[in-house]
Amino acid sequence: MTSATHGLRIGARPTTPSTLHLDAVAREAERLAGAAPPISSPHVGAPPELRAALAAAVDDLASALGGLSAHLFALAEPGFAEVKSAAAIVETLEARGLRSELDVYGLPTAFVAELPAAPAASGAPDASDASGPTIALLAEYDALPGVGHACGHNLIAAASVGAFLALAEARRQNPASVPGRVLLIGTPAEEGGNGKELLARAGAFDDVDIAVMAHPFGADLADPVFIGRRIVRIVYHGVAAHAAAAPFQGRNALDAAALNYQAVGLLRQHLPPGDRIHGVFVDGGARPNVVPERAELEYYVRSHEISTLRELSARVDDIANGIALATGTGVEVTWDPQPFSLPIRHNGPLAERWALAQAERGRRVLRAADAPGAQAASTDFGNISQRVPGIHPVIAIAPPEIALHTREFAEYAGSPTSIESVTDAAYGLAATVADALLDADLLAAVRDDFAAAGGPVDVERTFA
Ligand SMILES: [Zn+2]
Ligand SMILES: [Zn+2]
Repeated sequence: MTSATHGLRIGARPTTPSTLHLDAVAREAERLAGAAPPISSPHVGAPPELRAALAAAVDDLASALGGLSAHLFALAEPGFAEVKSAAAIVETLEARGLRSELDVYGLPTAFVAELPAAPAASGAPDASDASGPTIALLAEYDALPGVGHACGHNLIAAASVGAFLALAEARRQNPASVPGRVLLIGTPAEEGGNGKELLARAGAFDDVDIAVMAHPFGADLADPVFIGRRIVRIVYHGVAAHAAAAPFQGRNALDAAALNYQAVGLLRQHLPPGDRIHGVFVDGGARPNVVPERAELEYYVRSHEISTLRELSARVDDIANGIALATGTGVEVTWDPQPFSLPIRHNGPLAERWALAQAERGRRVLRAADAPGAQAASTDFGNISQRVPGIHPVIAIAPPEIALHTREFAEYAGSPTSIESVTDAAYGLAATVADALLDADLLAAVRDDFAAAGGPVDVERTFA
C-alpha cells in the first residue's frame, strides 16, 4: 500500500541508514591504528618454556575447541536456558579428566571447574601460602532470541575452556610450572539476565583475585569501552473515562507517558558524550474511546561512569515525577528489575600482558583510545571488574563494520574460520593467567592498578 504526497511516493519500506559516518570512522581508525605505538609491558610474565607448552596445548586442542564452538552455535540456547550448552562444556572437560560442578550458586546452568592450588614446588608445608592467587576464567554460552549466537558467546566459551585445558595440560606435564588456583566459571545469561551479578551476589567471586575473559568483535582491542546500564520501568496510573462523552472525567496515563518520552528525548541533548537512553512504550492503553488508565515505558539508561549513571538516574526520576504532577497521574518508577551492569574497569598491567600474548599469535592489539568508533554496549563483566582486577579484551573475528547482535556477526561466529580466534584467545587467556601466577611483580602491579582505580566497589549497593 502506498500513498502519494506532493508527488513523492511513500511506501511501507523505511529508508536505508547512511554509511557516511561509519566510513569516516573507518578512515580515522585506519589513520590512528597506523600511528599507534605497540602495547608493551614492563613485566617478564611467565617463562618461555611455559608459554611454549601453553601454545602447543592450545594448538593440540584446536579441533576439540572448534567442535565445541560449533556445537554451542547450533544449540543457540538463550540465557538461563543453556542446559545442553553447559552440559556440553562439562562433558568436554570430563573427556580430559577434569571434573566440574554444574548447577552452582543458585543458577542451574552455571558451573565451576577447578585446578586446585598446586603443592608448592619447594615442598613448603603450607601450600596455600606459597601457591599464589586464585584466577577465574569466565565462560559465556548464552545466545540471543531470534538471531542465535550473534554475540559470539560460543567462541567465548570455547576460548576460556581452551585456556583452562591448556593450563591443566601444562601442569600435568610439569606440576610445578603452574602454581596457584585456577577456576573456570560458567556464567549464564549475560544477555538480558546479568548472570555474573547473580553469581557474584551468591558468592561465586568471594575468593577470586583476578577474573579474565575475551569477547569476539570486529577489532583487536585490549581495553574496549563497555559502559554501565540500568533498566527502569515507569508506569503512569490515570483515570479511565469515555474519551468522547466524558473526557473531563479522566486522567490520561498515555499523555503522561508521551510527555515522559518527549522529556527524556530532550534530555538526550545534554547527556555526557557517549551516554545513551533508549526506551519503548510497553503499554499505551487499549482503545481510542477509553482514556488510558495505565501506560508503561521501559528505558535502558547507560553512562560511562558509576557516578554519572547515578546522576542520570536521578534526572530520569525527576522527569517521571514532574510529569505525574503536571498530568495529575500517579507514577511508579522501578529501577533494576534485573541487576544493573557497571562499566568495565580494565586492569592496565593485565591488558598489556594480553596484548603481548596476542602479538605472539600475530595479532596487533590496540588500546581503545587508539580506535575510534566508541562502543556503547554493556556487559555484566563490568560488575565483576569493579569487584576484582580483570580484563575483557575483544578479539577480531569479523570486519570492523560488522556489528554485534546482527545476523552478519552470527555468520562469522558460526564459521569454521573463527577457530583461529578461539585458539588465539585461548592462548592469550592462558598466558595472561600464567603471567599473573608466576610473576610476583606483575601481580603487585595488578593490585596497585586496581587500588589506584578506587579498589573494590560494593557493587550490590551501588545505587541503594
Ligand atoms: Zn551481546
Ligand atoms: Zn556478548
